[in-house]
Order: sequence, then structure tokens, then C-alpha cells
Amino acid sequence: MSDDPLGYHSNPRLLAEVERLAAHAPGGRAVLVEAGRTVRGQPIPAVRVSSPGPDRDGRPRVLVSANVHGNEVISSELAMALLADLAASTPTDAAQALLGRVEVVIVPAVNLDSRAAAADALIDGRLFARAPRGNANGVDLNRNFPWVQGGHDPWHPMAGSSIPWMPWYRGPEPLSEPEALALAELAERDRPVVALNLHSVGRLFLYPWNAYAEPPPHLDAFVAIGEAFCASQPGPRYQIKQAQAWYGIMGDMDDWLYERCGTLAMTVELSGAMEAVRERPTALFSPASWMNPVSPGATVRNSHVPCLMALLEGLNQAEARAAAPTPVSLPSPPRAGRCPAPCRRPARRVQAAG
Ligand SMILES: [Zn+2]
Repeated sequence: MSDDPLGYHSNPRLLAEVERLAAHAPGGRAVLVEAGRTVRGQPIPAVRVSSPGPDRDGRPRVLVSANVHGNEVISSELAMALLADLAASTPTDAAQALLGRVEVVIVPAVNLDSRAAAADALIDGRLFARAPRGNANGVDLNRNFPWVQGGHDPWHPMAGSSIPWMPWYRGPEPLSEPEALALAELAERDRPVVALNLHSVGRLFLYPWNAYAEPPPHLDAFVAIGEAFCASQPGPRYQIKQAQAWYGIMGDMDDWLYERCGTLAMTVELSGAMEAVRERPTALFSPASWMNPVSPGATVRNSHVPCLMALLEGLNQAEARAAAPTPVSLPSPPRAGRCPAPCRRPARRVQAAG
């Protein structure tokens, strides 16, 4: 059992809390919508938060998504802390500043089907309990997005695999999975200017490209956003790097958002590797603990305000970019290899997302 006062949310507790926070946000500031449904038919909640005002509908949007990987429960705890702050009657200064300028769209738990097992194992301190990374079909959702143009089949399985039993299985075709499609349709509709995708582990702040070693056209903007994040971390501070320099991925969400929607999209890899095992050696026998600290509090406190500061800096960078546009050009001509399936992209706009 977690001894942190924050603790981990079970799925029912998380969903009830999302509903409560949205309903009690002052002045109708928060609106709860359904982004889509999981493989098992669970509604995926998304909360839109912004200060009331006549210009509300025209404000730019920023997207925070978490728990795309079912076993990375800590990421949804951070998303919940951000939502609680943004929906509070007295938000932090950083949250207040953000709410006046943008609509924040928070999807605190994308992969609810798989999250359930991992969260319960963490809450109960259960050993030998399964903690799946993929969705209920065994697909790694962060390998299920359409490939950037010219993408090539990677040589290592972590970049995405066509073998169904692999943890990094990319699925039968891009956006085959309802959870990935829900995020893609939300992004197509909202065209977020900035996105933070919360994962674990590694204590990293990652920016595109995942698919290419070449730096992205907006490298300076990404680094500035990363520095805004790290500068406000009480500690330990995370490392800022291009995702491909960690390990390459094809079909991840950040590259797709950046190329397709022009979003300054970044991933935060929370917490240290095997942090829980160092704290509690028996955690070695609990797969859920490999990707999550024993208690979420310290990790959440180390990234809560930094995420808000990153979003604010991201907005500044997006505004500067709008004043002097630089297209998201792809860095090199197509390489050997090809996309394993046609890169189907969402052509229609979703109505259900409210
Ligand atoms: Zn992840």
C-alpha cells in the first residue's frame, strides 16, 4: 500500500475524481468530454479547461496526455495533479497564467484498459501481477500513429515491431487502435499548438524527431521549452534531448503531431529507472513497479509546475512561430524500407469530443 498521501488512483477512483474536478471547477471553467472509447468500450475522458471569457472559444489549445502506456501509471498521477490545479478555485500562478491564454485539454488516462491492472498492483503492493504496456489488443499505442514521410522500418524492436507478442507491437496498421485514433482525432480537431505527452521512465524531456537523427526545424523552440521545464524542477532535473538520441521510434505520437498538426509536441519521461526497486527491493518482482516509483508524490511535485512552465513557454514559442512561420520540413529524402501499411490518417473530424 502506498504510504504517500497522494497515493495512486485506481481506475474507478481516477474516473470519479476527473468527474468531480470538472463538475466543481468554478465558473464553468472545465468541461468533461469523451475523447473516444478503449478496446473494451470504456469512455476515455478528456477535460477542457480555460478561464471564462468572451474570447474563450478562439483561444489556442494545448494538449496534455498521459498513460498511453498502461503500465506507466505515474504519468496519469501527474496529469491528475495538473487537472486539480487548473480546476481549483485558487490555481497556482502558473496555472492561472495558462488559463487566461489557452484552453488546456487534459486526457489523464488514455490506456484505461491496461492501466487498471498496473494501478491495482501498485496500490495493493502485489507481486508477480501483470502490468501491460500495450492496449487490450497488445498494441503499443505509441507505435500506432502514422509514420512520418520517408520513414523506414527500424532495425531494433523497441522502435516498433510487427510481431504481435512484442511489447512494442505497432498493430496491424496505423491508427488501428481506438485509443490512438481518439487522440489523433482530438488533435485533428483541436490543432494544439503545444503538447506534452507524459510517460515513464528516464527523467528525460524529449523533443522530435523520433524517426530522424537530424534536428527538427524548431530546435531552438524545443530547447527553450525544455529549459523552462527543467529550470523550475526542485530536483532532480531532467535531461533535455532529441528523442532519436535516446532511441528511435517509428509511429510515435510526437512526430505525428509535429508533422501533421504543426504541434510543438514533446514527451516527458518521468521518474528514474527502477526507482521503486532501489527503494524497496521486493519491487523487482512487481512489473508495475519497474516503471513507477513506490509513491507518486515526489515525482509529481518535481514535474507539476515545470509542466505548466513548459506549456507557457511553448505558447510563447508558438506565438513567435506564428509571427515568423517555419514549415515543419522533413529532414532528408526517403530512405530504404517502407511503411508496413498505408499511413491511414483521420480524414473526418470527430463529433463526440464535444
Ligand atoms: Zn511510455
